[in-house]
Amino acid sequence: MTTSPTGPHAGSDQGRGDAVQPVNILIVDDEPKNLAVLEVVLDDPGYRLVRASSGDEALLALMADEFALLILDVRMPGMSGFEVAHMVKERRKTARIPIIFLTAYYNEDQHILEGYGTGAVDYLHKPVNPAVLRSKVSMFAELHRQGRALEQANRLLLGEVAERRRAEQRLSELNESLDRRVTERTRDLEASEARLLEASRRKDEFLATLAHELRNPLAPVRNAVELLKRQQPDPAKVQWAADLIDRQVRSFSHLIDDLMDVSRINQGRIELRREIVALNDVLSDAIETVRPMVQECQQDLAVLLPDHTLVVDGDRTRLAQVFTNLLNNASKYTDSGGRIELAVTLERDGVVVTIRDNGIGIPPDRLESVFEMFSQVETAISRSRGGLGIGLSLTQRLVQMHGGIVRAYSDGVGQGSKFQVVLPLARAGDGTRPAEPEAGTEAEEPTGALRLLVVDDNLDAAETLAELLGTMGYEVRQAGDGEAALKVAEKFAPHVVLLDIGLPGMNGYDVCRRMRQQRGGKKRTMVAITGWGQPEDLKRSKEAGFDRHLVKPMDFDALVEILKTVPEPAARRNNAG
Ligand code: ADP
Repeated sequence: MTTSPTGPHAGSDQGRGDAVQPVNILIVDDEPKNLAVLEVVLDDPGYRLVRASSGDEALLALMADEFALLILDVRMPGMSGFEVAHMVKERRKTARIPIIFLTAYYNEDQHILEGYGTGAVDYLHKPVNPAVLRSKVSMFAELHRQGRALEQANRLLLGEVAERRRAEQRLSELNESLDRRVTERTRDLEASEARLLEASRRKDEFLATLAHELRNPLAPVRNAVELLKRQQPDPAKVQWAADLIDRQVRSFSHLIDDLMDVSRINQGRIELRREIVALNDVLSDAIETVRPMVQECQQDLAVLLPDHTLVVDGDRTRLAQVFTNLLNNASKYTDSGGRIELAVTLERDGVVVTIRDNGIGIPPDRLESVFEMFSQVETAISRSRGGLGIGLSLTQRLVQMHGGIVRAYSDGVGQGSKFQVVLPLARAGDGTRPAEPEAGTEAEEPTGALRLLVVDDNLDAAETLAELLGTMGYEVRQAGDGEAALKVAEKFAPHVVLLDIGLPGMNGYDVCRRMRQQRGGKKRTMVAITGWGQPEDLKRSKEAGFDRHLVKPMDFDALVEILKTVPEPAARRNNAG
């Protein structure tokens, strides 16, 4: 098989020049001179002729290249032209190649038409008429070119369609994301505009309230001054005027203090003067401040304080301000003759101070916002109860500075309100308890507080329990085993012993028995703290001399209840205030 290079060209196709891509034509004949004739006849720049001198060569060439036309001699030694044609038509890749058979005998015509009647098949008699051959070849070549051009156009079109789809997809994604961003941005803007409007509305209302609040005390002061200016005023009247001015000046100062505090807090300039303070003292300060107002309104103020001292690490003045604000509001927003309650409880999170009133209550949707600056449930115009709307905001900030939280509760308008402040208890050892005695010192000086001894080999458990009890005002010692417990008990003479049973060395039962033998041991309240809670365990601890039996993990409230039942020592400090 050989190919004939395309050389200089003559004839009608010459004008098409380089622009025409040559098409491949396979010419198959066993006679070299026939092939040479075909090459001469089909010499054209539009054709690239590939020669094959047998059926095998022809098939090889067909596998290697793409052809526009196959010109096939019918009679060849070995594989005949028909056989080659059969194989060409059977293979999918070559099935569509048109074939021109070259026949020497007229009786082959019928055969050609029958066998290859369908598809692009033609035949010519040898010797071929050059003009007819050129015309047929040119037609097939043109068909092939058009087919190729069509395929290319099709490919381009498909590519373009896919590209356009991708572009449309990208565009629609971009649009969607733009839409989303516009919606979000609009929502943000609307929200921030609403916030600004609300802040501006509150500020306007605050200014109106402030003007009102500042003018309020002025009228009575002015009247009192007029009275004093009179010639020889009645001494009783002078006293009355002095009291009135004093009261109004106080109210003025309070207002201005609050305003100053707000600005200081906003600039982060308030600093707490922390110390370990007894909560009862703080509450007493607050109660004393509001008592005149409560009395004036003929309200009933019930105070429920714990009978042991709870201590917090805080600024006494600021904490008093917190509770004064809350009590003040309770009185202000409760009608004459109403009731206000203040109660202190010890809970897991810390100490909880609850101030409850049976006053005007708070609508549920305002329970959160009452803590916002300038937020008042009643509008400035309809308000009859004075105030700038900054008290609760200050209260919340001060409580937060103490590591606590404040919450408002109400069942709704007319249902009264409840405010709760939760403060962390001060840690024991923060200056509340005297230092541990050194070993070998003589019996300790009693302080008057109930003395508790905690015995546990788990140091963390002993330590935390001792600290908690210390914050409640008890005198607490601790020991890690039976021997140490007996030694401490000898000097410390505890009123109550909280004794773990599973101790190393001497177990809790034996320690209990021996403690009962000590001086004053019979009167001691012995509490077993153990992981065993079956009836026989209780029986066993009772036999060993325990008064009470608590199962681990210990219910702290149950322990508090037990401690309440222990008779107070004669000289016990009364810290309840
Ligand atoms: P104000 O100076 O208005 O009392 P506060 O910040 O102390 O400002 O309180 C904010 C608002 O919360 C009050 O205006 C009132 O509407 C509501 N509020 C506060 N305490 C109570 C209460 N105990 N009962 C009913 N409403 C209360």
